[in-house]
Amino acid sequence: MEKVQSVRGTYDLYGAPKRKTKQVVHIASQVVEKYGFEEIETPIFEFTEVFARNLGDTSDIVTKEMYCFEDKGGESLTLRPEGTAGVVRAFVSNGLQQNLPVKFYYHGPMFRYERPQKGRQRQFTQFGVELLGVETPQADIEVISMAYEFLQKLGLDGQVTVEINSLGDAESRDAYRAKLVEYLQQHYNELSDDSKNRLEKNPLRILDSKEECDRVVIENAPVYTDSLNDFSRRFFAEVLQGLDLLGIKYRINPKLVRGLDYYSHTVFDFTTDKLVAQGTVLAGGRYNGLVGQMGGGDVAGIGWACGVERLAMLLDQDVPLPRPIAVIPVGQEAELKAIAIAYQLRLAGFYVQQSYSGNMKKRIAKANKYNALKAVIIGSEELENNTVTIKDLDSSAQKSVSLDHIIEELQ
Ligand code: ATP
Ligand code: MG
Repeated sequence: MEKVQSVRGTYDLYGAPKRKTKQVVHIASQVVEKYGFEEIETPIFEFTEVFARNLGDTSDIVTKEMYCFEDKGGESLTLRPEGTAGVVRAFVSNGLQQNLPVKFYYHGPMFRYERPQKGRQRQFTQFGVELLGVETPQADIEVISMAYEFLQKLGLDGQVTVEINSLGDAESRDAYRAKLVEYLQQHYNELSDDSKNRLEKNPLRILDSKEECDRVVIENAPVYTDSLNDFSRRFFAEVLQGLDLLGIKYRINPKLVRGLDYYSHTVFDFTTDKLVAQGTVLAGGRYNGLVGQMGGGDVAGIGWACGVERLAMLLDQDVPLPRPIAVIPVGQEAELKAIAIAYQLRLAGFYVQQSYSGNMKKRIAKANKYNALKAVIIGSEELENNTVTIKDLDSSAQKSVSLDHIIEELQ
């Protein structure tokens, strides 16, 4: 029989890499809960239109990357490529506008049909936050500082750069679009075919193109900053002032646009140069029009999402497992007693590894492999005397302890 294969771009996570992704999610949850965010779980698939209508019909995700399928009832469904659209859909479907602000965090698998490479998978995990119902820069500052704290707690300070930009409000965006189109039309022949196509439908998207010929043109394109109206300018200045106050270092990147249609005002990216090509580890921005677009009224929003696997790859140190107690029976008669003792110790809260087979020497070797702190040894003599031998596996010191006192002795 030919061996079964996993799908291209998908991975089985176990051992150290899994411990690291688990740690990323654990630390992220701990940090954002301190800011009053609560976990939400939304379905892994949604009606296709939830993504197709809201992410922008010329975005990379919608044009090339979605896993869409028709279910047996003839509905067009899509495996979620990102988290924001689903959370906002849930916010609207459940009528959560009554009690603003709403602060959610989520984590789970996302699916994108991309060319797999290091740090770029077809199924990957995102951890993200969404803050709905706060229009003022306070929200931007809070959400960015939260991301900053999270990456610091992961031990990545000094390894990531925060880039920030403002796309302004709708008026600023229209003004900018006009300027940009004028410029791009002068360079029409130098653009990629994709971008020529986007020039009519969604010229802003061209700024996000990864094609070399487009990059050259974009290099000298007008920047957003010059088209911001007074309100947007002031808004951005307040966000930056807040970050300064908190001592958060950032770099203004006037060319930073996010690949999705729903962003306005603040957008930001946390990048590292450690992963070479796949440098963006966390990204987000404000999306004031999205709730309205889904029929939920005029509610502002801001959020970010990070790539959990990409962050896990940046963690140099393995996440240590707790050091267990090893319970080791010597001889057939002691086996059952060992199971009972292991059970008792676990009920008392200890981490316990049983050794399932082999002689004493083999089992001690196995216990050392588990990095066990101590071994509880039960032999025939101990069985007779209702005692066990507790051996410290670091110092090799051992002592005889009566059955009733094992827990006290180990504590
Ligand atoms: P990129 O420019 O790398 O394609 P993106 O702009 O598509 O990223 P977002 O949609 O902003 O990414 O998603 C937020 C984060 O999710 C990214 O910063 C990244 O860390 C992670 N991410 C995105 N796509 C993938 C993928 N295919 N595999 C692994 N992680 C990913
Ligand atoms: Mg992408």
